[in-house]
Order: sequence, then C-alpha cells, then structure tokens
Amino acid sequence: MAGTEEEEDEATVEASLEELMAKKAERPNSSDEEDDEDAIAGGGREESRESLTTKVLPMQQNEFVCKGCYLVKHRSQLADRRRLLCRDCA
Ligand SMILES: [Zn+2]
Repeated sequence: MAGTEEEEDEATVEASLEELMAKKAERPNSSDEEDDEDAIAGGGREESRESLTTKVLPMQQNEFVCKGCYLVKHRSQLADRRRLLCRDCA
C-alpha cells in the first residue's frame, strides 16, 4: 500500500513540474501577472484609506458627526447638541 502511494506521489510531482514548465513556456510574462495582483491588492487598500479620510475631511463648522449614525450632517439636522445626535437619531 505504502509503495503505491510513493509511486503516486512521484508521478504527481513529475506531472506538476511538467505543468509548471509548460505554463512558463506558454506565459513568459508570468511576473507581470503577479504585479497586476499586487496592484489590485494595493488599490483596494488605497480605496479603504480614501473612504476613511473622506469621513473625516468634510467636517466643517456648519457640520457635525452624529454620534448615533456616525454620518456627517448639517448643523440644521442637529437635534441634540450635548449628545451630538441628528434628528433621525435623537
Ligand atoms: Zn444620526
């Protein structure tokens, strides 16, 4: 039983090696693909950073962040000044 397993493993390794060689031969630009994946991952991180900054940036004197829904609202929507709650949350 063990002997057959070893044989199967060897066969699998040889097959995967051959597949790798064939893929490399077919796609000489495999390194470019890896770069693309990195770019996509980095872009996602940048997007999350941007969404975080956009939440902080628009804070202006006539605006406030509601403590209930954490949305930036106009002061006219401020129903509770002490708790900083908008009309929807107050
Ligand atoms: Zn609110």
